[in-house]
Amino acid sequence: MGAKLTSEEKQRYDRQMILPSWGEKAQGTLKDSCVFIAGAGGLGSPVAIYLAAAGVGTLRICDSGAVELSNLNRQILHGDDRIGENKALSAERTLKGINPSVQIIPLTETIQTDNIASLVGDARLMVDCLDNFETRYILNEYAVKTGLPLVHAGVNGLCGQIAFIHPPETACLACLVAEGPPPEIFPILGATAGVLGCLEAMEALKYLTGTGELLKGRLLFFDGEAMQLQEVSFDKDPECRVCGSVGRG
Ligand SMILES: [Zn+2]
Repeated sequence: MGAKLTSEEKQRYDRQMILPSWGEKAQGTLKDSCVFIAGAGGLGSPVAIYLAAAGVGTLRICDSGAVELSNLNRQILHGDDRIGENKALSAERTLKGINPSVQIIPLTETIQTDNIASLVGDARLMVDCLDNFETRYILNEYAVKTGLPLVHAGVNGLCGQIAFIHPPETACLACLVAEGPPPEIFPILGATAGVLGCLEAMEALKYLTGTGELLKGRLLFFDGEAMQLQEVSFDKDPECRVCGSVGRG
């Protein structure tokens, strides 16, 4: 059973609490939940905004970068007056304005193998809002090691992909993409990051409340140019360098 709700919270979340599968119980569970958001950029903006608005009790938002003018076509947590400010701190200011009852923990460090445990803290779920595979693999290894679920998404241009990674039940990110492309400056439309970030927020909320069916072992492709969705299922790779040895003990 989740935390008790105040009368203000019952009003704020009324339109989602009247979902037949939701109610006060799911809302109380959200209030008790903590989520780790890796990146406060194009994907992290919609993820953080929708999780804060939905009443997830604690958000740990990690980004070591500063807001730049060229970020503002898509990173809607930040405005013109935030240029030069750390993105996690800027995110905290925006989110406090959206929902002051949510606890925001801004983390300004760079995600590394040796600090990932302290950054994630007691979060129940990690959301990949990153723009490079090098750091994604750090999250993935932590997910395999701890059993914490990871919502993965990536965007490029008018396209994107999303999957729910929860080893050992599902394959890990390295089973899906054995070797990601090197970091690069890629084209991106803000609305593409908005679509994929909203899908990530939805998967996170579904997981935390036990609602609906998750994208476990399923990779969903969004093609905004043709405006089509495609789904492919994917399995564990027994030879996977990250999770392959886990099953063999
Ligand atoms: Zn794997």
